[in-house]
Order: sequence, then structure tokens, then C-alpha cells
Amino acid sequence: MPKWIKYACYEDYRKALYKRLADSIRFEIGTGCWLWNKATNLGYGQTYVRGFGSIGAHRAMWIAKHGDPGKLDVLHNCNNKLCISPLHLHLGTHKQNFKEASDAKLLQGQWKTLCKRGHPLSGDNLTPWTQWRGCRVCATGRYRLRLGWPEHLAFDSNIKVPAGYMLNRETGEIVPGKGRRVSV
Ligand SMILES: [Zn+2]
Ligand SMILES: [Zn+2]
Repeated sequence: MPKWIKYACYEDYRKALYKRLADSIRFEIGTGCWLWNKATNLGYGQTYVRGFGSIGAHRAMWIAKHGDPGKLDVLHNCNNKLCISPLHLHLGTHKQNFKEASDAKLLQGQWKTLCKRGHPLSGDNLTPWTQWRGCRVCATGRYRLRLGWPEHLAFDSNIKVPAGYMLNRETGEIVPGKGRRVSV
């Protein structure tokens, strides 16, 4: 435990730290990730924490929620280096981190040219907000499903809903109206 903690109230500092971190994110619908929107280093969010120096923002979040992780690494369940959601973090060894990252790479299917629904995994259809090669049409589809769209329409990339329009779920037509817009 860093020296300064003897002189300050650690609990209060952690609460303030949590608030500061939580104010520095963009919530990602779909994944539930808290994407760090301040300084980064090697793909990780970077921030200063008293007694720890300049460290990963995800590590800072662990300190804020649980205290000093010591020698252990703070790892991502979601494999998104920018994410600092407390629900997406767990502790592990450095070796584990390396292994998980390479396993994840295999799962991401770096060699794949199509997603599991057959959309091209290239160019504009790649999700720019993830570190892995995600399918944009499917990301939109999953979001649409949550809004109550039927599955056969949700994953149809030809259906675009402009501002001021909504999907008529019965007929499948795009009609003027005030539905929640799907912009991804
Ligand atoms: Zn996450
Ligand atoms: Zn897809």
C-alpha cells in the first residue's frame, strides 16, 4: 500500500477516483462497455492516480472499486482495452493476460472474411468502436432486437431508418414517426 494512504482517507480517495473515472467514459450500447474517452497509451486508457503514478484507467478503476491489486494484472472480460466497466474487469497474472489475449485473437477469427450471418468482415462493415473485427450490421441488428424488432428485419442491412422515421413492426415498412432511431 502506498505511503500517502497513511495520511489520507483511502476510502474517500477511492470514491472520488471512481467518480472521476466514471465521468470520463462513453457508454457503449450493446456491449455495456465503459469506453475511456481521455488520454490513452498503447490502446489502454491512461490516468494519474495518487500513490500509483500514471497507470491504466482500467487498473485505476479496480483500485477505486476494490483497492490495490498489488502484483496482479487487471484483465478485461470484454477484451476491449479501452473499457473500464467494473463489471468487465477481473484479476489475473501477467502470463494469464497474454494467454487470454491470444485466445481472444483466435476467437475473433482474424482469418475470417464473413461474420456468422454472412456479412462481409471488411471495410465499412467493421465496427470502428471495437478492437476486434466486429460486424457492424450484426451490432445494429442486436440493438434493433432489443428495441423489439423482429429478427428477420433487424439483421437486414438494407433497412435504414432515417431521422424522423420508424419501423412499422407489423408491416415492416419505414413510416414517418418518432421511434427510437438506430444510428449505428
Ligand atoms: Zn467492456
Ligand atoms: Zn454480421
